[in-house]
Amino acid sequence: MTNTCISQHRSLLLYIIRPHSDRILCFLRASAGEIRLALQHLSDWAAPRPVEKTLMTLVDQAYVQPQPLGLVLIIGAWNYPWAVTLQPLVGAIAAGNAAIIKPSEVSSHSARAMEELLPLYLDTDLYPVVTGGVSETQELLRQRWDHVFYTGSSSVGRLVMEAAAAHLTPVTLELGGKSPCYIHSDCNIRVAARYGPFVNCGQTCISPDYVLCEPSVQSRLLEEVRECIKEFYTENPKGFEDYGRIINQRHFRRIMGLMEGSTVALGGDCDEADCYIGPTVLKDVSADSKVMKEEIFGPVLPIISVSGVDQAIQFISDREKPLVIYVFTEDKKIIQRMIADTSSGALLANDCLVHFTVSTLPFGGVGHSGMGCYKGKHTFDQLSHLRSCLIKSSSLESVNSLRYPPHTQRKINW
Ligand code: NAD
Repeated sequence: MTNTCISQHRSLLLYIIRPHSDRILCFLRASAGEIRLALQHLSDWAAPRPVEKTLMTLVDQAYVQPQPLGLVLIIGAWNYPWAVTLQPLVGAIAAGNAAIIKPSEVSSHSARAMEELLPLYLDTDLYPVVTGGVSETQELLRQRWDHVFYTGSSSVGRLVMEAAAAHLTPVTLELGGKSPCYIHSDCNIRVAARYGPFVNCGQTCISPDYVLCEPSVQSRLLEEVRECIKEFYTENPKGFEDYGRIINQRHFRRIMGLMEGSTVALGGDCDEADCYIGPTVLKDVSADSKVMKEEIFGPVLPIISVSGVDQAIQFISDREKPLVIYVFTEDKKIIQRMIADTSSGALLANDCLVHFTVSTLPFGGVGHSGMGCYKGKHTFDQLSHLRSCLIKSSSLESVNSLRYPPHTQRKINW
């Protein structure tokens, strides 16, 4: 990438970072961090990356040159409508691509705001926002792109990949699934209890979807979660402004339906007209219960009893690879065992969610939880073609002659 190109990409990123209002700034904070990072490191990211040479290439130039892919389609989910569209967009711009942004129709206010605001800062020929629902997205997917960056459910992810395959277009699929949380008996249960799936009412792709723990841990955990809910959201979460709502009544009914047949240990209160489901914990949940059949994506935490770390690992390994595995323990060996014996997009010990904020860690899934990754330089690389460049010197043609026929014994022995 030339210096002029880099400076053009830099000025585009600077335009996006300017807040339109304080309210929008709050929504944009996470993306603003990504923009700052890209501004700081763009020259390094875009520079040729020399590679180790062999005897045959000792006097040549051998390097990897990141190059724009071309036109990127970014399709977003509704639960963090700004982060899942703007963060890939930052990487797309930094890498020198044009990009079309298709926010989710479900978070309709954000989609409208994006449609109104982005054209104030970005060239609409290069970075248009297209709003609409399923049919509009399907129409977009019929077109030919150089990359499709999709965030959403695994079922729609499959359709996206199918559509992209028609043009051999590469995809990044940022999907969801059921992320387990193993709580070992030696951990600080009070700390573990603070990370319930109640952030954004559990409508977070990396929410802990269910807890695995020994029966003796379950009762201690329930006590601590009860205290924690009171501390975070008061005795009346419904009336507390920091406690959110389910996105719509379709999802409200879906989540309530998932709880059928399970025992509510905490919460369970709800109000369909208000799309409210209180912070809820289900106890003694069986592996074949309804709530274990799909990603919950709501403020409901099932607890499943296991005999210890071995059974927890077995339980996780018997299912699709999750986006993240959480483990709470003071025992480093247990953490290492979880890392060695399971597979997931990420593994986080003694905390939840925060790995998404670490831009040096690639964020993405594996298997059913997705493919490809992003954040910081990883987004830049994901949306670049890493082109191999080998510039030979013709002055050493005599060395090359070893490769040419006839393949005499003398050449073979050399
Ligand atoms: P979704 O798959 O229903 O929708 C996402 C996008 O796909 C929307 O823009 C929508 O218009 C489009 N879409 C929906 N149905 C389609 C179809 N049949 N054909 C073509 N396009 C279609 O997902 P969602 O409900 O918006 O988001 C929730 C899911 O996203 C959860 O599974 C969650 O875990 C996941 N998610 C993942 C991440 C991540 O970074 N891995 C982040 C946020 C959400």
